[in-house]
This record gives sequence, C-alpha cells and structure tokens, in this order.
Amino acid sequence: MTDDMQASDPGATPPPRFIGSEIYRHSSYGSWHPLRVPRVSTVMDLARSLGWLPPAQFITSPRAKPSALTGFHTPEYLSALQAAEAMQEVTEDVRQRHGLGTPSNPVFKEMYRRPATSAGASLLAGELLNHGGVIYSPAGGTHHGLPDRANGFCYLNDPVLAIQSLRRNGARRIAYVDIDAHHPDGVEYAFADDPDTLQISVHEENRWPRTGQIGNAGKGQVFNLPVASGLNDTEMRLILHDLILPLVADFGPDAIVLQCGADAVTEDPQSRLTLSNNAHWAVVAALRPLAPRYLVLGGGGYNPWSVGRLWTGVWAILNNYDIPDVLPPTAQGILGALTWAGPFRQHHPEPHWIATLRDVPRDGPIRDSVRANVRQLAGRRAVWR
Ligand SMILES: [Zn+2]
Repeated sequence: MTDDMQASDPGATPPPRFIGSEIYRHSSYGSWHPLRVPRVSTVMDLARSLGWLPPAQFITSPRAKPSALTGFHTPEYLSALQAAEAMQEVTEDVRQRHGLGTPSNPVFKEMYRRPATSAGASLLAGELLNHGGVIYSPAGGTHHGLPDRANGFCYLNDPVLAIQSLRRNGARRIAYVDIDAHHPDGVEYAFADDPDTLQISVHEENRWPRTGQIGNAGKGQVFNLPVASGLNDTEMRLILHDLILPLVADFGPDAIVLQCGADAVTEDPQSRLTLSNNAHWAVVAALRPLAPRYLVLGGGGYNPWSVGRLWTGVWAILNNYDIPDVLPPTAQGILGALTWAGPFRQHHPEPHWIATLRDVPRDGPIRDSVRANVRQLAGRRAVWR
C-alpha cells in the first residue's frame, strides 16, 4: 500500500452532506399560502445549534440555469417562469397555459430563483453521488411539477431532475420512494414507462391530486399505495417491512431517492394521516443500506414546528446522532421563536413541539384495508433478475 492509498482510503464512506441555502430564510409564497412558513432554515439552525452541521458537511446550493432544467421542463415554460419573476405578474394566457399566478402557484419575489436553487441542489447531488454516499436536501422534493406547468406549489420538479442527474453520473437503476401525504404525479409522469426506475408512493386516498390509485401502473415499475385517513405508525411499519423494503431490495438499485415529505404527521394541516415523526425516521434508516447512493429530499410539511423537528431528525438519523430526549435551551429557543399565523387565527405550539424533536409514537391497530392493499401490491412484485 502506498502513502497515497492510505491518504484516501477507497473503502471509507464519506460523511453525509447537507445541501441548503439562505434563500429559504428570506423567501415566502405569500402571507396566506401554506408555504408561508419557514422550513429549511429551521432545520439548518437546529442542526447547527446541536453541533450536527459542521461546515465540512454543508454545501451551499447552486442555482440552476434554465438550460440545465430542460431535461424535464420546456423552454417555453422556463421563459414564462423567469418572465413572471421579473415582471411580478402574468398574463391570463400564461396563467392558463403554465399554471403560474394561481392561488396554488402564486407570483412571488423569488418564484424562479427559489425553485431553481432546490433544483440546482438535486442536479448537484447526482454529480456528487457518482462514487456513492449520502446527500440530504430538505428543500427538494417538489414532486408535482410538470414539464410545461407549475402544479401543487411546485414550479420545477427537482426529484425528476435528480433522477436524471444520477443517471448521467453512473446510476442506472434508481428506486424512488415517496412518503409524502400526496401522490407524486409529476415524478410518475416522467418515469411511468421506465423499467429502470422503481417508484413506490404511500399517500392519502381521495386527496389532491387524486392520482395514484392502487391499480395504476405504466410499463415501468410503479407501485402506488393509497391509504385511508388515520394511518398510524404500526401500519406504516407494516408498509415499510412488507412492501417498501422487499421491493427495493429485490430491485437492486444503484441509487435511492427518498422524498420525505413531512405532511403525513398528525400536526400537519394538509392531510388527515396521523403518523409520528418516528415513522419517517424508520424509513430513512431502513433504506440507507439498500443502495450505494442515497439522496433524501424534503417535500410537503406545513406546520413549521412539526416539519422543522421531523427534518432535523432526518439529518440526525443519516449521521447516526442520538436525538436527545430534551433539547438544549438554544435549540428550544429556535423552535420557540417560530410563529404560525393562519388565515383566521394564530396557532400556538404544543409544549413538546418546543422541548423535543421526537414525537411520542402513534401506534395502533392495523386495519384490514391496509393489510389487504399491501398484500395485493407486494404480490405484484416483478421478477427483476
Ligand atoms: Zn404533500
């Protein structure tokens, strides 16, 4: 062995890297929009205050140029999005064709720069993972974006761009797992017929965008599990161990992309699923050994306390940090300084939203419908090799 080989041990796994940006601290979709709340900045502040985010593990996200986004988005749409940001208004024609300037996808100050920053993180992640590793980009996970239009608070589809970037950088078979409360219609649109992309989504049934029924599948490998309101941690554990993990293990992916939306917890106003954050963390931990490249993205999450706590815990799980039962005063101060003004009232935090990261587990009975749907989908497992 030469000195050179000793200096860079090829067997050593690099520490996980966190891609973030200050843009999320200063940008909002507007005072009435669900995405008016701070999210990524809370995760960065909490992780730093806990000593979990040294500079060596932090990467400031680049902002993607429009030409880097045409792998999925049309040049016409990208031009319209940039023009809308510059003009701070849209024509009726642009609103109709591209879904910009609507209540869901409003005109706001950074409406191109902000999504182009999270898209830049996803594109960079694909490059940085070319030799393996773990990357966390909590600003990513905008899984509703469509090629020619904004959709469901998503102006660009960074998960699609991440998968394309991973593929350009040496990963062929990619498993996309999505545990956001909403179905990833934009990602499914992109890869529904791709046999090298496994897609697994767990989402609330009968909720916008109302796609992702259990029977839906393209020629590719699409597994949609709609779940009834009231999904509990015990049911999610069944889904993880009887569906998600066997599917991903059998597929043998070169890379896993996990969309870890935080809107399936009880505290979130945008779903009626009732998980605790322990359920998300269990998924994050269990997928990690199943591929050499692992990219964890954010997604939905509209209660500033529950999303900040859940996503900070994801970073702890990826780094094998122990999550303290009681947060130190500085971390409690970060959570205590958050505010959440609703359209009709100011929300007040529960004491444990300030004092801890970890929720009390929300276990419960496994309903027959959940068990039956898991069995039906698991039975559709293809023979891949
Ligand atoms: Zn969602």
